[in-house]
Amino acid sequence: MIQTVPDHKPGDTEALDQIPVERLHRVGPRVAERLTRLGIHSVQDLLLHLPTRYQDRSRAVPLAELRVGQEALVEAEIGEAGIALGRRRSLKVWLTDGGLGALMLRFFHFGSQQVSALRPGVRLSCYGEVRQGPRGLEMVHPEYRIQGAGQEGLEPGLTPVYPATEGLNQASLRGLTEQALALLETRAPAECLPASVLDPLGLPTLSEALRYLHRPPPEATLEALVERRHPSFQRLAFEELVAHQASLRQLRETQGTQVAPPLAGDGALRARLRARLPFSLTPAQERVVGEIAADLALPRPMHRLLQGDVGAGKTVVAALAALQAIECGHQAVLMAPTELLAEQHLRTLGGWLDELGITTLWLTGRHKGRERAELLARIASGEARLVVGTHALFQDEVRFAELGLVIIDEQHRFGVHQRMRLREKGGGEGALAHQLIMTATPIPRSLAMTMYADLDLSVIDALPPGRQAITTVAVPDARRDEVIERVREACAQGRQAYWVCTLIEESEVLECQAAEETARQLAERLSGLRVGLVHGRIRGAEREAVMAAFAAGELDLLVATTVIEVGVDVPNASLMIIENPERLGLAQLHQLRGRVGRGAVESHCLLLYRAPLSAVARERLGILRATNSGFEIAERDLALRGAGEVLGTRQTGAVQFRIADPLRDQQLLPAAQQAADQVLSAHRGLFEPLVRRWLGDRVDYGRA
Ligand code: ADP
Ligand code: MG
Repeated sequence: MIQTVPDHKPGDTEALDQIPVERLHRVGPRVAERLTRLGIHSVQDLLLHLPTRYQDRSRAVPLAELRVGQEALVEAEIGEAGIALGRRRSLKVWLTDGGLGALMLRFFHFGSQQVSALRPGVRLSCYGEVRQGPRGLEMVHPEYRIQGAGQEGLEPGLTPVYPATEGLNQASLRGLTEQALALLETRAPAECLPASVLDPLGLPTLSEALRYLHRPPPEATLEALVERRHPSFQRLAFEELVAHQASLRQLRETQGTQVAPPLAGDGALRARLRARLPFSLTPAQERVVGEIAADLALPRPMHRLLQGDVGAGKTVVAALAALQAIECGHQAVLMAPTELLAEQHLRTLGGWLDELGITTLWLTGRHKGRERAELLARIASGEARLVVGTHALFQDEVRFAELGLVIIDEQHRFGVHQRMRLREKGGGEGALAHQLIMTATPIPRSLAMTMYADLDLSVIDALPPGRQAITTVAVPDARRDEVIERVREACAQGRQAYWVCTLIEESEVLECQAAEETARQLAERLSGLRVGLVHGRIRGAEREAVMAAFAAGELDLLVATTVIEVGVDVPNASLMIIENPERLGLAQLHQLRGRVGRGAVESHCLLLYRAPLSAVARERLGILRATNSGFEIAERDLALRGAGEVLGTRQTGAVQFRIADPLRDQQLLPAAQQAADQVLSAHRGLFEPLVRRWLGDRVDYGRA
């Protein structure tokens, strides 16, 4: 790899977090904007953006030994090459290595230079995923180098693979981290943990750890890295956990002194809602409703986490809490992580409240111009009693007349700092709004109490009665036709189905393309069925229209990426196909599967995997088949993690964290708690830089 060292003046001692990424070579406004999407603003952020996995390029695999699904380095000679015209024009390159095996490379995007360079007799090193093509094994758009053409070969050893984003590929990220590491040579990041904490743990320094994880030395073992057990990884996770713990402790302390409007309410609206519900609350729901009601009645802000597995019935609990605030003449706001979910809450909650004559409206990023101004006015005047929305609700221009309660759904998508911003909109005259945070993330109670040390905890620990268990089966890709027939049958019986396409590499674009292609093929195969498509690049109104049509039963089959994972509630949907489930974490698969089994009919989830599965992958899918309990899945998943498998990129609750995963890194928690104590009691000066490094400077503890 060509190494470039960014300009810096001699004697320049700016800290890494003070150097904006724009200072690096090849970072203009466009690249900077893309980096921002990954949460990267400074060189320090870039260094904390760790590889999710590594490609093993330490050994070239003979063509005859290649297996489908494997990522491999191959070194071979071009036997034949040519442009194939077909539905999609492509450049095909056949490789041989003197053995029995053969491999075809396929390029859909290529230039004339590439065509003339890739001619018979040329030797290549290439790295890519082996797929089953129509006529043997192939790699689509592999990374490659021509050997002996003045080009260096592919970097040997363990190559980092970073979380990427549209327009920022692995090669760019490797180049950028290379520059960041060069800067790291001349200025070690400031130490934010006291020596009394670090020394006994015997972990590497921050600089050593970063260097190791970004560019593992030749002797590094892949297993220790992917299992996140390597001391370098632990060093970073530990520091992040300390930062988190210290900030939560600090929050808890300041909360003791805050005031909020007491919202006891007369119960009239709540009684009217209960009378209209087609079901009665379960004892578990009644218990948490009672806990919340008692908190709201107090003159200090509630900070409560409501935990309940998918389908446990958190929405109605939220509705009752909102009504209690509204009974007292206050407004309530419910915030969801996506427009899709906000819209669904608007339908469900808005529908319930509408019958009681209470005005609900929603505000998201797509409300613009006059419409937005009107919505803002109705919120500010107090006409809107319940406001449902997305991140757009955080903005300063959103003002409430008398906000009493903030409810946040699927909290793991929002950071601590965002929660605080909304709370500050409440109360008036120094008073804050009450806060209820809902999550389906199944983490054991003791762990939740540590991770959310600033919150009280309520748990809905039983599902509503009469739920049909979801039958889950794993089916190999070779039986895809049968699976398609299953979809046809289910839909012929008036049911609806989801077909979920999962993450391909780390690219949202490719994932969306795959979903489009799948939708096209399924529509062709299942003529007569109404097929809809949603993915991350279909925005706003269009996506909503598709979702609304699916919810209304106007579509039979919904092809989607994992954007539908949280919260979507269509009880008539009773069949879900998940493609390549082996790519996802169990927690995520469980969330996805929770989209079915919400009505009275028996539901099925088919895990359409690409054979062959590794032993661990088989065991993991087996866990999903064996149980429908999110808690059990989380625990068994955890027990399996020592087994050397790369897991899905999004783990339970991990989104708030850059590096640590409280589940995986549980064993670090006691020491992290002690360290947080020490920072707060004896090393106050470290608190601010520590929290800024890990949580960003958006957190303003002075006002918390
Ligand atoms: P989640 O906790 O995942 O947000 P929801 O609130 O969406 O779950 O509830 C899932 C489904 O269960 C909804 O259709 C809801 O109307 C229904 N439901 C909620 N509580 C009960 C109950 N006590 N009895 C029967 N059905 C219920
Ligand atoms: Mg929900």
